[in-house]
Amino acid sequence: MRVFKFGGASIKDAESIQNVASIVRRFPNDSLVIVISASGKTTNAMELVLKAYWERDLEEMQAALNKVKAHHKALTDGLFPNLEHPVYNEIHDILIDLEWILEEEPQDEFDYLYDQIVGTGELLSTTIVSAYFNEVNLKTTWLDVRDCIKTDNTYRDANINWEETEGAIKEKVPTLLTQGLVITQGFLGGTTENFTTTLGREGSDFTAAIFSYCLDAQDMSIWKDVPGVLTADPRLFDHPTLVEQLSYSEAIEMTYYGAQVIHPKTIRPLQNKTIPLHVKSFIDPEGKGTVIGAFEDKNYPPMIVVKKEQAILRMVSKDFFFVDEVKFSKLFETLAKHRIKVNMTQNTALAFSVCVNDDAQKIEALIADLEMNYEVKKIEGLKLVTIRHTSEALFDRIIDARKIYLEEKIGSNIQLVMNKEEIL
Ligand code: ADP
Ligand code: ASP
Ligand code: MG
Repeated sequence: MRVFKFGGASIKDAESIQNVASIVRRFPNDSLVIVISASGKTTNAMELVLKAYWERDLEEMQAALNKVKAHHKALTDGLFPNLEHPVYNEIHDILIDLEWILEEEPQDEFDYLYDQIVGTGELLSTTIVSAYFNEVNLKTTWLDVRDCIKTDNTYRDANINWEETEGAIKEKVPTLLTQGLVITQGFLGGTTENFTTTLGREGSDFTAAIFSYCLDAQDMSIWKDVPGVLTADPRLFDHPTLVEQLSYSEAIEMTYYGAQVIHPKTIRPLQNKTIPLHVKSFIDPEGKGTVIGAFEDKNYPPMIVVKKEQAILRMVSKDFFFVDEVKFSKLFETLAKHRIKVNMTQNTALAFSVCVNDDAQKIEALIADLEMNYEVKKIEGLKLVTIRHTSEALFDRIIDARKIYLEEKIGSNIQLVMNKEEIL
């Protein structure tokens, strides 16, 4: 059996969903589990609904909700000319569940509400795509992923209970596959009390990897709007080239530092069972794409990864003691407590600098926590540029006359923190 994942861009409108069906038809003899994200930019749109709900801006909330509704209405209208089709009721019911939550004043924690509200995007998209597949004779079962991917209750960044998840997936999915295709939601999980959780933004790639692992898939394919993994993000650089093969460890390094094309958590479950990962184009499904697998690392071209929305925190010890291993461990403990992701570190005798994802709320709480012992200075508006397998020429070109806040060079791998406006 094989696992496919289609992201938001691949199902952004009715025509795109028809294209997904035509891709799936190319695999008539395969058992397929198909993981699907929210359509287009629905997750961002749902975040706006939530924000307005949380801030009690009811007018704004209604406007944002109307946009989500209109987007999905365009999908159903485009795919189901028969207005009596049951999908219209199904979508209506999902939206009613959402509106019930939105009618009450917020009583719970933000992260919990985030998952209950924002997760609606995947429920809507999978309902539409699986109904459409059945309509065009691709026999499909809609599977509620919340009964399969069991997590703890760390809302917005839920941890997988692998034992329960593997048990549930093995119990449910193989039987369903004997009846046809299985479509399920990316990004979502469920707690033991059946509350919805999410696995972190862009988490649907990871969902597909969890299914691949639990079902010992022959391979996994993620269908993207790019020809495969490229030497850089084509939105930021002209003419990057396709990398046809990558080892698991090279892929982990790239995604860890922010190559958005694959979610960083995706690789490990696949590597554990030596399941190949294909990154393919939904625009050109015949194209070669990239395969990530148990390859030896050899002669990679220079690859550039840019991680946006970064900040540097420079912490200077107030008591004039060295930043030693005891201080380090306390600092990291505090960073972990606030769930702040550290992307780079540097220290002198009295100061410790970290480059972190600039999550303003979390950083504010961290600074309040550290203020007793450290003077903390925050520099924001930065990006982290990682160049792997660099050449001297590329290095010189990127450094050029730019202001570099932090720099690290290990062999042919370089990391630089610079202003977000710098054009590379
Ligand atoms: P999905 O729709 O599956 O969520 P994403 O939008 O998250 O897909 O990922 C695809 C995007 O990743 C591409 O459109 C591209 O702009 C970006 N990207 C960043 N780095 C790379 C890279 N090295 N190779 C290819 N695409 C990249
Ligand atoms: N829909 C979610 C997001 O946009 C998950 C995903 O697409 O991978 O973050
Ligand atoms: Mg994505």
